[in-house]
Amino acid sequence: MEINLTNDKGEEKIISYEVIYKRVKNINLRFDANNNLVISAPRYVGKKEIEKVIREYTNWIFKSMKTNENKNSYKLARELDFNDSFYYYYGIKYDLNFINISDNNFDKTKTDNKYFLIDHDNKKIDFYFKNENDFSWKKDFDKYEKQILIDKLKFYFNKEMNELKNYDLPLTKIKIKTLKSAWGVCQVVKKEITINRKLVNHNEKCLRYVVIHELCHLIHANHSKEFYKVIESVMPDYKKAKHELNYD
Ligand SMILES: [Zn+2]
Repeated sequence: MEINLTNDKGEEKIISYEVIYKRVKNINLRFDANNNLVISAPRYVGKKEIEKVIREYTNWIFKSMKTNENKNSYKLARELDFNDSFYYYYGIKYDLNFINISDNNFDKTKTDNKYFLIDHDNKKIDFYFKNENDFSWKKDFDKYEKQILIDKLKFYFNKEMNELKNYDLPLTKIKIKTLKSAWGVCQVVKKEITINRKLVNHNEKCLRYVVIHELCHLIHANHSKEFYKVIESVMPDYKKAKHELNYD
């Protein structure tokens, strides 16, 4: 079923929903794993009454849908599953196709011996699987993606170390990790920089910004005006990336 909703901000959306009649006392709203609105209602409740309750929750519905969308979009390759339909790869949305293959008709030479094929022109990724317990595609893609990230980090660290060469930065150990609450970490004493693996989902400018940001902590171990002045000297438009990542 569908309903046209307008929230407090005047945004309009057609929301589809499903009603499940249950032995419950009240009308309950929730979102399922695919971000669809599901209503559970007592058997005697009519459509009018259900829609009245949905309207009362309009603001909550809009907000929840947005949050769920963001949660689903910024996934790492290893978190992907068969029911995912898109993936953000360096800030670009790719459509995903899961193709069931039997060992006999699968031409691995086509995919460079891997269980996936990226089509950058049409922004899509095909994953090949033999059965629903076969996650070779995920392992392959995860490995591939990490290697690309390593290559990009090598490139940016070389480039930015060179651009900051007047500061005589020490040689630093670089690590990649999935971090929960930071895009990068600079341990000044240990001379070690950790880069968040989740940056593979964001555009490359963000990756460059985090590299510069963490390198600049070797010059200023704080977020002072002077710190940002150094960043600005090598990346004048850094604020855009900073804003996108919501990163101080
Ligand atoms: Zn910082």
